[in-house]
Amino acid sequence: MTVVAPLFRTAGRFVSPGGAKGKLTILTYHRVPPDIDPLLSSDQVDARKFASHMAVIAECFNVLSLPEALERLERGTLPSRALSITFDDGYRDNYTMALPILQRHGLVATFFVCSGYLNDGLMFNDVIIESLRACQSPQLDLSWLGLGLQPVHDMVSKRECAEKILTSVKYMPFLERERACTRLWETAAPGKERPLLMMTDDQIRQLAAQGMTIGGHTHTHPILNRIDLASARQDIVHNRDLLADLIGHKPLIFAYPNGRPVRDYGHEHVQLLMELGYQAAVSTAWGVATRSCDHYQLPRFSPWDNNPKRLVLQLLRNALTGQDPLTAKSAG
Ligand SMILES: [Zn+2]
Repeated sequence: MTVVAPLFRTAGRFVSPGGAKGKLTILTYHRVPPDIDPLLSSDQVDARKFASHMAVIAECFNVLSLPEALERLERGTLPSRALSITFDDGYRDNYTMALPILQRHGLVATFFVCSGYLNDGLMFNDVIIESLRACQSPQLDLSWLGLGLQPVHDMVSKRECAEKILTSVKYMPFLERERACTRLWETAAPGKERPLLMMTDDQIRQLAAQGMTIGGHTHTHPILNRIDLASARQDIVHNRDLLADLIGHKPLIFAYPNGRPVRDYGHEHVQLLMELGYQAAVSTAWGVATRSCDHYQLPRFSPWDNNPKRLVLQLLRNALTGQDPLTAKSAG
């Protein structure tokens, strides 16, 4: 990679210029498991892939903290090939696996933390995956979810079953989904302890103390469009205040849960964040942030390629074509 890095840097100056026409690539990561996990999706980024991403990115891009990048985007003083790194949800492997890799390259990142699962909680998607991992029966009766009898005798069938359950519970109301997850655990992994996958309070404090940015991501990870505005406000405020207690100041940047504009959040949530003192927010719409972007609906990008050259090409293509990201518009 070192040989072609100067070529990529030159191309990057044209595709992702600095100054008034500056473009900011914001990367999204979630879990960074120590090894490839057969039960996670095929585009997962394990520690080895993450390390190869960071090596290339440190060589070819100018990595800035998200607060600094947004300030410079606003002022028109971004460097060329500007890039920020973000993680959603608050997974413990972000601290144990990703942080040492970031630090090895002198990089900083923003961690959007869902406060309701810190320490010993599990998000619903992980309850599903981990219950199937722990399951020792060859099949599961999921008629109560409308899925009938599901084979779960190996990793492939467990993966397929997890996908089906995720699809059927993802948009359920919160309490109904919690009940479904509890029932699933009792059915698939009776008596088994849930694994510890989320960061501890102290790990959040440590991240902040080591120069990383902590951002809001709600308390219970609701799809905001699926709950009423008062409940959304309560969940966002609770998250903001708990994080403020941990890091000593209110978080200033937010990531919408699930994050798809229009489908997962609306313009009323953009206004809510402004009212609550947030200065910017990121969605999961793919694209590149420019000066004309809505700062409360900044697009991001999730790289997946393992090959360094293809990874840089993916990032440059996104910077070239991703200039009109999807956003939720105000009605009036
Ligand atoms: Zn999330």
